[in-house]
Amino acid sequence: MTLVVIDPGHGGRDPGTVGNGLQEKMITLAAAIHLRDALQRCGIQVIMTRTTDSLVLPNGTVSQDLSARAEIANRNKADLFISWHVDSFSNPDVHGISVWIYPSTRGTETERAAQTIVNSVAQATGQTNRRVFVADFAVLRETGMTAVLVESGFLTNPEEANRLASEAFRRIQAEAAARAICEYFNLPYVGPTQPSPSPTPPPQPTPPAPVPEEPFPGEELPEWARSAILQVYQTGVMTGYENGTFRAENPVTRAELAVALVRLYDLIRKGRTM
Ligand SMILES: [Zn+2]
Repeated sequence: MTLVVIDPGHGGRDPGTVGNGLQEKMITLAAAIHLRDALQRCGIQVIMTRTTDSLVLPNGTVSQDLSARAEIANRNKADLFISWHVDSFSNPDVHGISVWIYPSTRGTETERAAQTIVNSVAQATGQTNRRVFVADFAVLRETGMTAVLVESGFLTNPEEANRLASEAFRRIQAEAAARAICEYFNLPYVGPTQPSPSPTPPPQPTPPAPVPEEPFPGEELPEWARSAILQVYQTGVMTGYENGTFRAENPVTRAELAVALVRLYDLIRKGRTM
């Protein structure tokens, strides 16, 4: 039987990200419980690292607590470890969903799992698909199986915070993640039988635009700087002009440089690699 360990990020005295009147630890637990229910419905065995508002190791350091989460997955020989989180950033405009994997797992089954999950949730919710990032997170480093960390949206973006606060929205995210996990394991996804609350997203005033492969369509990016430009765009360090162009040949003003440096500093401070 397929075994998935679900890890709701933070808990207890560690609230995680706090913003717009919400605490990350509560959102992650609520979403994780929906994900557990959905996976169990599909015949997948689930172990949660926590089911209450507490750390896994209430008296340990945060670093010991993270190791304990990984240890639960290792000890039970899980097939998949999925840690659920909520993101934050200094720039409130940044929003969307991303899935993080350990750097050495690029191009492996782990990346396939991450890609499947991020695509499925972004499609179900209409959130911006920020795709797959790599980072040296303890829970990814210390787990001995396919391990992914979902950053399910930005609490620092008022509109996304509003959605993350909604039970119905978290359920849509969890069902979409469950569908992706079933697909990853080649198992049939069994949807909820109750039609309400609907597993489909609420009607939106404008349908979400599909995420373009190219963030700056029609623009010729210089080949030698192309991947760097896509990276600074993906990480939010440089976002291009308001009209959606990047203008690779334009000079940088001192003001633009200051903004980019602060965003980069923010990434580094949070222990993120690009
Ligand atoms: Zn977190």
